[in-house]
Amino acid sequence: MKKEPLLYSLSPFDPAGHRFKVQLSIQRPDPKGQELTLPAWIPGSYLIRDFSRQVQTLRAACKGKAVAMRKTGNHSWQCAPCQGPLVVEYLVYAWDLSVRGAHFDESHAFFNGASVFLSVTGQTHEPCLVRLNPPPHVRGWKVYTSLPAAHNHPEAARHHGFGVYLAPDYDALIDHPIEMGTPQVARFKAHGAEHEMVFTGVLPNLDLERIARDTQKICAAQIALFEPISKKAPFLDSAERYVFMTMVTGDGYGGLEHRASTALMAARQDLPSLDAEPGEGYQTFLGLVSHEYFHTWNVKRIKPAAFSPYDLSRENHTRLLWVFEGFTSYYDDLMLLRSGVIKPDDYLRMLGKVISTVHRSAGRHKQSIADSSFDAWTRYYKQDENSPNAIVSYYTKGSLVALGLDIVIRQGSQGAYSLDDVMRLLWERYGRDFYTGGGKGIAERSMTRLIREATGVDVADFIARHVDGCEDVPLARLLPLQGIAMAWKPASGIPALDVRTRSVNGETHIATVYEGGAAHAGGLSAADVIVAVDGLRVAEPASLDKLLARHKAGDKVLVHVFRRDELRAFTVTLAAPAASECRLSYAG
Ligand code: ZN
Repeated sequence: MKKEPLLYSLSPFDPAGHRFKVQLSIQRPDPKGQELTLPAWIPGSYLIRDFSRQVQTLRAACKGKAVAMRKTGNHSWQCAPCQGPLVVEYLVYAWDLSVRGAHFDESHAFFNGASVFLSVTGQTHEPCLVRLNPPPHVRGWKVYTSLPAAHNHPEAARHHGFGVYLAPDYDALIDHPIEMGTPQVARFKAHGAEHEMVFTGVLPNLDLERIARDTQKICAAQIALFEPISKKAPFLDSAERYVFMTMVTGDGYGGLEHRASTALMAARQDLPSLDAEPGEGYQTFLGLVSHEYFHTWNVKRIKPAAFSPYDLSRENHTRLLWVFEGFTSYYDDLMLLRSGVIKPDDYLRMLGKVISTVHRSAGRHKQSIADSSFDAWTRYYKQDENSPNAIVSYYTKGSLVALGLDIVIRQGSQGAYSLDDVMRLLWERYGRDFYTGGGKGIAERSMTRLIREATGVDVADFIARHVDGCEDVPLARLLPLQGIAMAWKPASGIPALDVRTRSVNGETHIATVYEGGAAHAGGLSAADVIVAVDGLRVAEPASLDKLLARHKAGDKVLVHVFRRDELRAFTVTLAAPAASECRLSYAG
């Protein structure tokens, strides 16, 4: 009997109501009754998101007759037995302008498969055809995705057209997000491999050529890092090209990695215009581009065993996110430097900022980055006003651990090896054949062994202290070994309340009270609205700074706040401005 692949047909049919219509045809459903599920989360973003909340009017039919369905869990449905073929139809509400969900209006459509495509239990390894239909009453839209067209299908999509695409299995189906519309597009090749950059959103005078030129250098440098001889781009195992899909908004920032593409959010002012030299925000954007591209190797193919395969119905715990996010965060800015798109002084400024950020939080002495990795689902992804006091980021501290390891390896091997050699070993052993060879991930607690194998250097003590333990990476000792001097300076000369504030409608709200600081000792709390200092009105945070600047450390000030609706007064002894800013420079 000829095997018929699963067929998903998606129509963006209601732009004003932001709804997709999806029809799923299953030729050979489970005769005992087909189960259908939707992922509870999307790989790369470690939070239960319950995409099933946006599914509407789900119904099933077999040979024209309705098939009963019932909900069996938050993300699962059970169909009554039938002898196939089974056709399932539903609507998906798509009004989430993020890299994780689905978004559709008259200007464009974007979606991740995890939020729109039901998984057919028992057939997740079967090929999936995807028929993309154009929206009604709109002309000129094109399709941008790394998902390959179904070349042998009679209705195969032509270049960037609507029509039929093909995923080898469900895991691939939900790993190629799709953008439809009329975006601005740039193209380039890196070591012969096609790359495409797609910008959605109103963005006049965008300097596409400059972005393509800089991104090309970053991609070429990363390919050469992992494949110094063949220079083969990693995504050619799954796609014909790599696609950067960027949604441009007023203040967006973020990205989500996929095997042959990435979805990004960027702030309009961070992108270069034809009329002006770009500012530091452009380096931030290039850092994000570099970060997500590095994930093409590190986490999309080199993976923890806990993600091989993913269990999409529940949280997947690993203590290794410091490798996948921390190492990636180390290499993102470093590759900007190595590819020449930023200067050494820019790199030191960016690195100094990360060191300052990590050192500002007392949480770094309470939680290890291995524990932070494990608890990503409940702590890093569910941050609140006390998070800086309670948790550490496996991104930022993880990047400092990567930097520390890189220096320790270079020192321990007299310059013969570096962290690059560790990345290449991980790539050759776990990554290169991940999608073509069965896909095995890195076991928990095996990094010490793998680093020793790649470089001959024993980092067991370093891992025990700085990864499984809460000790700071000794950068004041390590950086000078690489010719970099480190100094700490106060961010300003103003005596401190030791709070993080937020400006809300012209008022100063306390976002975080730093543990052990002046405000903590004086009784101030997060969410307090500061209205006066020594009887003088506080409006914006800048007005608070002006009042505090008239004092010196050790002075007592009377701080009036609204806590809920109640006026309260606290006496706070101002602290000396902390030496909280790390400045790096090339020694000598
Ligand atoms: Zn990342």
